[in-house]
Amino acid sequence: MFRNLLSKVIGDPNERELNRLRPLVEQINALEPEFEALSDEELRGKTAEFLGRLQAGESLDGLVVEAFAAVREASKRTTAMRHFDVQLMGGMVLHEGKVAEMRTGEGKTLVATLPLYLNSLEGQGCHLVTVNDYLAKRDTQWMGPIYRLLGLSVGVIQHESAFLFDPEYLADDERYQYLRPVGRRQAYQADVTYGTNHEFGFDYLRDNMVVDLSQQVQRGFHYAIVDEVDYILIDEARTPLIISGPAEEPDANYRRMADLVPRLRREVDYVMDEKDRVVTLTEDGIEKMERWLGVDNLYSPENFALTPYVDNALRAQTVFHRDRNYIVKDGQVIIVDEFTGRLMHGRRYSEGLHQAIEAKEGVEVQRENLTLATITLQNYFRMYEKLAGMTGTAATEGEELHKIYGLDVVVLPTNVEYRALEGELITQKERRDGVEVVTYQNPDNNELYYKRLDYPDLIYKSEEAKFRAVVREIEELHEQERPVLVGTVFIERSEMLSEMLRRKGIPHQVLNAKYHEKEAVIITQAGRPGAVTIATNMAGRGVDIKLGGDAEGLAREDLRRQGVDLTTVPREQWAEALAQSKKICEQAREKVLELGGLHVLGTERHEARRIDNQLRGRSGRQGDPGSSRFYVSLEDDLMLRFGGERVKGFMEWAGMEEDVPIEHDLITKTIGNAQTKVEGHNFDIRKHLLEYDDVVNKQREIIYQQRHQVLSEENLRPIISDMIHEELASLVTMHTTGYAEDWDLEALQASLRTIMPLSPTFTPARWEKLSPQEIEEQLLALAERLYEEKERQLGSGDMRQLERLVMLRSVDNLWIRHLTGLDDLREGIGLRAYGQQDPLQAFKKEAHEMYVDLLAAIQRAIVGDIYRVSLVREPQPRPMREARTNVEAQRAPQPARTAGARVGRNDPCPCGSGKKYKHCCMRKDLAAAPGASEEKAPRSRSRRRRKRR
Ligand code: ADP
Ligand code: MG
Repeated sequence: MFRNLLSKVIGDPNERELNRLRPLVEQINALEPEFEALSDEELRGKTAEFLGRLQAGESLDGLVVEAFAAVREASKRTTAMRHFDVQLMGGMVLHEGKVAEMRTGEGKTLVATLPLYLNSLEGQGCHLVTVNDYLAKRDTQWMGPIYRLLGLSVGVIQHESAFLFDPEYLADDERYQYLRPVGRRQAYQADVTYGTNHEFGFDYLRDNMVVDLSQQVQRGFHYAIVDEVDYILIDEARTPLIISGPAEEPDANYRRMADLVPRLRREVDYVMDEKDRVVTLTEDGIEKMERWLGVDNLYSPENFALTPYVDNALRAQTVFHRDRNYIVKDGQVIIVDEFTGRLMHGRRYSEGLHQAIEAKEGVEVQRENLTLATITLQNYFRMYEKLAGMTGTAATEGEELHKIYGLDVVVLPTNVEYRALEGELITQKERRDGVEVVTYQNPDNNELYYKRLDYPDLIYKSEEAKFRAVVREIEELHEQERPVLVGTVFIERSEMLSEMLRRKGIPHQVLNAKYHEKEAVIITQAGRPGAVTIATNMAGRGVDIKLGGDAEGLAREDLRRQGVDLTTVPREQWAEALAQSKKICEQAREKVLELGGLHVLGTERHEARRIDNQLRGRSGRQGDPGSSRFYVSLEDDLMLRFGGERVKGFMEWAGMEEDVPIEHDLITKTIGNAQTKVEGHNFDIRKHLLEYDDVVNKQREIIYQQRHQVLSEENLRPIISDMIHEELASLVTMHTTGYAEDWDLEALQASLRTIMPLSPTFTPARWEKLSPQEIEEQLLALAERLYEEKERQLGSGDMRQLERLVMLRSVDNLWIRHLTGLDDLREGIGLRAYGQQDPLQAFKKEAHEMYVDLLAAIQRAIVGDIYRVSLVREPQPRPMREARTNVEAQRAPQPARTAGARVGRNDPCPCGSGKKYKHCCMRKDLAAAPGASEEKAPRSRSRRRRKRR
């Protein structure tokens, strides 16, 4: 009662949340006896019952209490874990589409089962998004039995495989136990699907590159819970997902065409429109090229890749002239600005034209790399009808989560804190050595729980002195056999420290977030007596550290050492080994508890408070004792970049000695301020990236939607017919304006030849007596007749397929070129003189113009191809795996550095100029921060700026 009174006075928003959710928890608890009494069969029957009620019009919200009661009961029977009350609350927060901040070790994996079960009842699939493949797999194997008992299917997506959870399936690799390999699509068909943000995102992009609907794997974006949500939606969100593909042997193809095309003759082999810079092969020209290239049909699907080279070579040879449109200097093709005559150094024609000109001029052909598909994580996750997240540290990024994703953060107390709030545990507070010590006692059995002790930072004058002290501290803890987790900000530091410890003969383990599975095995044992574990901040994230060690892992290790094959180990032998290691771990736990639990030692403060909190959160799990302390030096990046001078002055004044640390509020405050500043700065960068992507996103949505229509529509002929009519009508209009004597019927005929196969006897003379309307009608009739003829030749089935292929090819090719063009536009926009114009506005305007052009070009391409292209049996599906994702490209170890939120060289500059950071403020920033070094570009490809035609 007092608590309620108090909260009314204080009005803590999270307290309010607890009050709001408490009655539901009470209802769930009240149902427990009833659900306990159900047989497994009856419990499973609940799922059918809920489905029936949903169908009868009940709402999902109305089912929360019973559904959660069912999941809790299923969990008790399968995993032996009973959802704590505060975990039920977490489940409700997730169901409401919010972020639940729950401390590390509070059991978020289990919490997610509640809303995932509930929301999957709607039959559209739910996704649980994790940070790496190992965790996706682990969570599936761990939580799978709960869903199975309730009759749900669970899938997991891995980088190059997919599985369904199936307890009957015995894998021959013990790490894949109970995972039945299936196709990706099947894993997505499951009620619940686990996977990483990268796999989900890239599958989405790849699904929009398929040539047949049957190749699509996903089925919509119903509900997703993002685990470690701050990392995925904030840190990772700085790098968009990109699938790019290099043109294969670009060099050879460009050169080959550059050799062949000059042999073609104007008006015989090709016709050209100098003004619009359009060149088209005639039937004769096509035949010649086919002969020279040794292909049957230049326009058949397997030669799709060739035609752009032919087109570009033609244009390069015929309508682009040296010393007029471009010059050649020092082995480079440099564009001449049409209006000013100035040389546009660094700019390139897009869409392979520049390469074709390079080949024509015999200079080195620069490698072409195309963006095949791209999306930011922000825009990927915003597609979900409902999105939720969970993590130990979200509150500091609440604003960003709200503004970008519409996600509100609810901070939940730990289970121990909650029980204390409810009056189940008695809280005691005291100050010891300037640190607040909080313990919780259970009055029934005197059991004690602790709140982690966070010691104030120790500040050293130099980095060297700091690391000396760190090593000393580790040595001491190791001698006591107290486990210690040492956090570093990047891999090089871990390695340096490792070397220092090695010289001292202190055994230790180093984790780099490189091999998630292997590192998970190590980190589960980081709570063993005497363990010293060095880790960057992402290493082993999501893996539980148990004091005294993990019995299962230990048993496995033991058996493996004895040469026992873990996949075939007899049940009794396993049980025996497990019992034995359990005993060992229990004893070890007692010992570690006495020593004060796991100590976390941070060797440097990170840019974001959140990351520091994550590190601290590794200790003091579920009321275990534990402590943390950061070591800081005046030479650390953060200190050098922000307020270092002031602090240094202060230090000098205080007469600071090399090896004597100080603890001082001023410095702690300076660090806090610096972190807040960096956090805001990084938020700006991400917002900026998103503002640009939003423009592309709208276009992407429409194009993908149309693409989907192309794939799903039975018969595309009506659409294509309309397009042909429009194209013909506009051609006629274009060439018949003004008085009849001004009409250019010759040109009309030439243009028509680029669309339809006209007979050689076809001459414009026949139009002389006609009105434009009559010409148009005649052409439409002709077009219709030729179409009919083609359809008769091919057969309707093939014609339908051909229509689909032609449309897809046009949309894809031009969309991809468009994406690359947009990229270039974005890079270039800051460099242009726009006066007072906002670069983003300029980008929006031009991007829109390009989009309008794109739509017109797509139509023109479709109409231009449909009469010419023919079908070859069994067209090869596009080899998508050849395309690379930017994540694969850097699947190599990721330094913790990039996990934090620093500006990448190739990121847009945070100052808003629209230029890349490296071309803008990077130099200035580096000069201001001598300790800062450059980081790897987050985007894997580096391209030169190109000019849009
Ligand atoms: P988090 O993701 O929140 O850091 P995990 O899901 O990894 O936490 O769980 C941490 C540990 O807590 C696991 O060892 C798990 O078995 C344990 N745990 C979680 N919930 C419960 C529960 N209700 N009862 C008992 N143990 C639990
Ligand atoms: Mg977790």
